[in-house]
Amino acid sequence: MSALTRLLSAAASALAVLSVLASLGAASLISRFPPPSTFSELFPAGNPSVAEARFWRPSCNGVVCKLCPFECFLPEGARGRCKVRLNSGGHLKTLVYARPVSVHVDPIEKKPVFHLLPGSWIYSLATMGCNLRCTACQNWEISQAFPEQAPAKVVAPSGIALSVSPDGRMSGSLQQKEYALMTPKDVVDAALATRSRSIAYTYSEPAVFYEYMLDTARLAREKGLRNVMVSGGYINRAPLEELAPYLDVVKIDLKGFDEGFYRRYAGGELSSVLRTLKDLHELGVLTEVVNLVVPTLNDGPEDLRRLSAWVRENLGRDTPLFFSRFHPNYRLQNLPQTPDETLAKARDIALKEGLRFVYVGNVPGHPGENTTCPKCNRILVRRVGYAVLENLLTPNKGRCPYDGTKVPGVWVDEPPKPVAAGPKGDPCQDCGRPDCRGCPVQHGAEGSDD
Ligand code: SF4
Repeated sequence: MSALTRLLSAAASALAVLSVLASLGAASLISRFPPPSTFSELFPAGNPSVAEARFWRPSCNGVVCKLCPFECFLPEGARGRCKVRLNSGGHLKTLVYARPVSVHVDPIEKKPVFHLLPGSWIYSLATMGCNLRCTACQNWEISQAFPEQAPAKVVAPSGIALSVSPDGRMSGSLQQKEYALMTPKDVVDAALATRSRSIAYTYSEPAVFYEYMLDTARLAREKGLRNVMVSGGYINRAPLEELAPYLDVVKIDLKGFDEGFYRRYAGGELSSVLRTLKDLHELGVLTEVVNLVVPTLNDGPEDLRRLSAWVRENLGRDTPLFFSRFHPNYRLQNLPQTPDETLAKARDIALKEGLRFVYVGNVPGHPGENTTCPKCNRILVRRVGYAVLENLLTPNKGRCPYDGTKVPGVWVDEPPKPVAAGPKGDPCQDCGRPDCRGCPVQHGAEGSDD
């Protein structure tokens, strides 16, 4: 890469940050969060939320982040497109390690994830930052913000308080606790204390808080919890390979099936997301796909048919596919919510294309919320909104009780299989891990751009 190209790339990154700030309306963010101070005040030396990042390599006068397909080139002091990875002293740092900004206990149906322990609770968290620019983002206040704009502390569920009413009925409510930092151990302890059966990395884009997610997922698996990544699918193969053994389900938001739509309304490339979906399939991770159907933008029958056919051909006909209702939001306030007929049409198209588990999302009470047997068509899991009214799969170990058809997913709450120990070797000189593949020490062998 020439010096001129690097200069242009750095200038483009700076302009992109400025234009995002301008377009988001910095004033509205600042009114929601404390005003940012200087970088050195907010991230002083020794701040534990600034941690060595994985998956990067040195380059001439900077570093190249290899975590996601953007592969940002970062001169000293510059941040990536995601706003949470920074070149400091020739090393790539994450600015959000153990700094979640949104932590909740949700029904797993809210993700939406339908083929993992229906009716269970999932401990869900996010940090600031995202590598995409979705115009319909539901969580833009955190996904498009800087880590400096995060509140100093996050309030997170930390346990369940039980009480007994005068008539002898027992009830429980979530206890909350403030955390300045929430380490992977804190997250796992809180998930166990709130009787959550799994942890979701969700709301913003978990790929950009990769190191925090990976460490938490490892510990969670050791303690018998499952892991769910809810993602836009913008992540490179190498980090995904390392994370995959700890993931029980990945939910990928496939926003449309047209490159022009992806570039304009998500700020990314469709081909990169399709590649991630293929990678997940090859790695054997149970993947559910969701498509937000936005009126006039991605609701054409031919796009929906091509999307469904691609999922069947590349991921298999048992892949759960959701068509979710859009509500006017963020930069798409001018469009109406998705009509019921459009969602019904999308579902019909996918079923005709041969997919066996096609759902409708964000429409409580719609029959497309139920899991039905692809052979006898009887309802196996009956849902209304986030509530599970009937579940025939768990007592029958994932099989239809009428004809024995096996339904892919995790239906029985047994301890997940432990992950085999990683490769042994000398600890990395940078991060100390024997299985490190992301530090410049190891990547030095690949050479730099010099
Ligand atoms: S994660 Fe992606 S957007 Fe963020 S710095 Fe790395 S390459 Fe750039």
